[in-house]
Amino acid sequence: MKDFKNKSEEEWEKELTPQQFNVLREKGTEPAFTGAYWNHKDDGMYYCAACGAKLFSSKTKFDSGTGWPSFTEPEVAEAIETREDTSHGMSRTEVVCKKCGGHLGHVFDDGPKEEGGKRYCVNSCSLDFKPLE
Ligand code: FE
Repeated sequence: MKDFKNKSEEEWEKELTPQQFNVLREKGTEPAFTGAYWNHKDDGMYYCAACGAKLFSSKTKFDSGTGWPSFTEPEVAEAIETREDTSHGMSRTEVVCKKCGGHLGHVFDDGPKEEGGKRYCVNSCSLDFKPLE
């Protein structure tokens, strides 16, 4: 398997769009209601836009009203890593792709209660959707 963790930032910059590089590698945030997937309702799977790891299923996607794609849980729990994030004067939990270390978004505890109460708030540009065959 390719070692994404040792990939240089220069290499990432060549492969990703400027916005993807800003979000995935520099922990940026795409403006709400601008991404490709915040209002995307097709059935399928969302993969990491940087390394292709399988991350979220459309089955757990819900309309959070935030303007970012929101999921109640990852499709593959081991594919996700969480880290404490105290930047911007807030205490949040960052969500990272385990395989490549790319920043995906944050997870909050205000998700649908009947689905476990989590809200994985993910940047569209960190994701790559593939429809169900
Ligand atoms: Fe990744």
